[in-house]
Amino acid sequence: MTGRPPAPEPLPHPVVDNHCHLDVVRDDDALPVAEAIAAAAAVGVTRIVQIGCDLPSARWAVEAATTYDALVAGVALHPNDAPRLPDLDAAMAEIERLAGAHDKVRAVGETGLDFFRTGEDGRAVQVEAFRRHIDLAKRLDKTLVIHDRDAHDAVLDVIDEEGAPERWVMHCFSGDAEFARRCLDRGAHLSFAGTVTFKNAQPLRDALAITPLDRVLVETDAPYLTPTPYRGRTNASYLVPLTMRAMAEVRGAGLGELCAAVETNTDVAFGGAW
Ligand SMILES: [Zn+2]
Ligand SMILES: [Zn+2]
Repeated sequence: MTGRPPAPEPLPHPVVDNHCHLDVVRDDDALPVAEAIAAAAAVGVTRIVQIGCDLPSARWAVEAATTYDALVAGVALHPNDAPRLPDLDAAMAEIERLAGAHDKVRAVGETGLDFFRTGEDGRAVQVEAFRRHIDLAKRLDKTLVIHDRDAHDAVLDVIDEEGAPERWVMHCFSGDAEFARRCLDRGAHLSFAGTVTFKNAQPLRDALAITPLDRVLVETDAPYLTPTPYRGRTNASYLVPLTMRAMAEVRGAGLGELCAAVETNTDVAFGGAW
């Protein structure tokens, strides 16, 4: 399937896409940044957290957050990039500078662990980079945004060893109800992506169902993880209503009520409204 999916019916109350990569142009279906922000706003997705994954995209995120009112930024070295860097110390110093560069940089992330794309040989560096990002988030009082792919236990081991920061988000939450409880017990907000609409994702829907209303967030991780029925096409923030409708159904909640909660939760998770 190709082509840009049509705009869904607007949401009854605004929400925030709390994890997006507006700088990643996957194909011709990618919208220019200003258009992506406008298309999202037109369906009730009025604000976006732009996430940087390496030095160029972290710089881009800071620049974009200072240019567009709708955006705030997260900066970090992605767990799949950290092991490939020639000089982790120098790169972390630059991330620290960027994290402190502007009050619209709200998050240190995405950091974390990815045992799917990175093999055994890269794990020690991943863990070291993750520890340093946790420390940075605490020192600068930023929200920690965690990427966890096939690494649930290891992520919580590091969190337990380092101590969780004040505010932290499990981005694209991918665990079951039991893992959700372990994250919630430690104070996390759980962010649900288009994956929650996938047919084979019942354990993830079970996790969403047990998450307290004040800990639920929504994201795209665009341009990836496009919700059903457009799975495989290019994702964008204007498709969040598809995910929100599926989430309301899973929880047996009113859509407006869930949207209002998600918006408030995002402001809490990212240190206040913008
Ligand atoms: Zn991620
Ligand atoms: Zn991401």
